[in-house]
Amino acid sequence: MTVQAQNIDAITAGAVPHEEAELTDGFHLVIDALKLNGIETIYNVPGIPITDLGRLAQAEGMRVISFRHEQNAGNAAAIAGFLTKKPGICLTVSAPGFLNGLTALANATTNCFPMILISGSSEREIVDLQQGDYEEMDQLAIAKPLCKAAFRVLHAADIGIGVARAIRAAVSGRPGGVYLDLPAKLFSQVIDASVGAKSLVKVIDAAPAQLPAPAAIARALDVLKSAERPLIILGKGAAYAQADEAVRALVEESGIPYVPMSMAKGLLPDTHPLSAGAARSTALKDSDVVLLVGARLNWLLSHGKGKTWGEPGSKRFIQIDIEPREMDSNVEIVAPVVGDIGSCVEALLDGIRKDWKGAPSNWLETLRSKREANIAKMAPKLMKNTAPMDFHSALGALRTVIKERPDAILVNEGANTLDLARGIIDMYQPRKRLDVGTWGVMGIGMGFAVAAAVETGKPVLAVEGDSAFGFSGMEVETICRYELPVCIVIFNNNGIYRGTDIDPTGRDPGTTVFVKDSRYDKMMEAFGGVGVNVTTPDELKRAVDAAMDSGKPTLINAVIDPAAGSESGNIGSLNPQSTLKKKQ
Ligand code: ADP
Ligand code: MG
Repeated sequence: MTVQAQNIDAITAGAVPHEEAELTDGFHLVIDALKLNGIETIYNVPGIPITDLGRLAQAEGMRVISFRHEQNAGNAAAIAGFLTKKPGICLTVSAPGFLNGLTALANATTNCFPMILISGSSEREIVDLQQGDYEEMDQLAIAKPLCKAAFRVLHAADIGIGVARAIRAAVSGRPGGVYLDLPAKLFSQVIDASVGAKSLVKVIDAAPAQLPAPAAIARALDVLKSAERPLIILGKGAAYAQADEAVRALVEESGIPYVPMSMAKGLLPDTHPLSAGAARSTALKDSDVVLLVGARLNWLLSHGKGKTWGEPGSKRFIQIDIEPREMDSNVEIVAPVVGDIGSCVEALLDGIRKDWKGAPSNWLETLRSKREANIAKMAPKLMKNTAPMDFHSALGALRTVIKERPDAILVNEGANTLDLARGIIDMYQPRKRLDVGTWGVMGIGMGFAVAAAVETGKPVLAVEGDSAFGFSGMEVETICRYELPVCIVIFNNNGIYRGTDIDPTGRDPGTTVFVKDSRYDKMMEAFGGVGVNVTTPDELKRAVDAAMDSGKPTLINAVIDPAAGSESGNIGSLNPQSTLKKKQ
């Protein structure tokens, strides 16, 4: 066999195929390396140079889900990582496709979700000399600051190591996004199949347990025991860790009330007697010792200070996190417990089982009565059955859906649609609520919905603001194509925050409004799915039940009063307003 130019790299890698030897190539080695490591699904948008990689992966038995835009494929991979603790794989073409996937990669890293963005790239020699190759871009350099680790593989014989490094980087320690750059030339490099097989690495113990130091546990127990008003905050790190039994035991055996962060809802059912979710403000403000379990004191927790947290100096924080540098990031952590959540919570439990007097009953009573008052105040708003719906009445119907179908996965994005759903819809099982996460990013909806259905096989209910949906709406075709059991409910209030803005000059539509009375349900019908238009909570409930019973891709256009929303939902304070606006 003559060695062709494309095999020069293989020669230098010492893996020249000889005549009659069984051969393999870069395409097959990438697939073999992923499969060897238990990765069964790729979220992808085909194109140069990775079209054949997707095709061959499908032929080799992998599930390859093709999207219409890389950002959605990337979001799917990211949430697959969150749900499974295995890195989700997103596969894209070079430069523009890579950049489209990069938003999802950065978002995954920010949220501590393990994913690997694999992008094809152009000829290194031409890119580095900036000679204008097809889709020329130094992708590795661009990805580096936006993810946890970035690697490039130049030789087919190194694919096994490259994939192994990417997997380890994604899932070990604090999980995150990893970029793997695979130049076009790599895929067609041919090497001896037996050499190729030997080059593959099955990653052993990719996310090793990290045991907390006994002294750190003792310190944390001391602080916890001295508390008069203790509180546990469960974050999405706790949900990710899949240490569900240990977390539940920690709450129940200590009797300490807890507040779940958004994606930690359902770790214990929101109806649990120790849930202080509905008394969140009081719990945060009046607690004296706070145990953070996989939750960061970032903007979502007001950085651990200010009005939210009561009197300055009134709080002592214990923090369990796998990332040592998270400690003291915003306020002093008096008892840092560094390790994986399963190991840390088990160790705390051991201590509590030996010696624990329980949580003070007056504190529990304060939170219980606050919670009941808040729930009672909310109840009538959830039961109105009038048209047009407002957010509360529509969410009241969806709250009942999830109560009746607790194993369904709820995907949620929007402004008011997000903030109010988070409070109103109770969750009953771990990792069933998937939302906009740390950045509050819009556009995760359809990517998350697809991956949730693919990875779990459970029905998915995606509750979407009309604006939020627009970022990934074209993926309704993907949902129909793969016949996924996804029911999308669009809260259609004709615009962003509200549908009532106007252009003061009278020339154009206001900047935050959309076409009035749009019928998003027709989009679904265009691809063979079920579309329904509803105007009352009863109709909404019936339509969602029908969708969930049938498992058919469904989009429900829920008509919401355009005047019902508030600016930026619950975070209006982050949205600066000019004090110099012209009088209209
Ligand atoms: P939330 O927004 O729900 O509060 P965050 O994303 O702010 O959650 O925090 C999650 C935290 O969990 C991160 O600091 C991350 O390092 C940590 N984490 C993720 N996985 C684990 C794990 N297996 N063990 C310990 N900590 C973890
Ligand atoms: Mg809206």
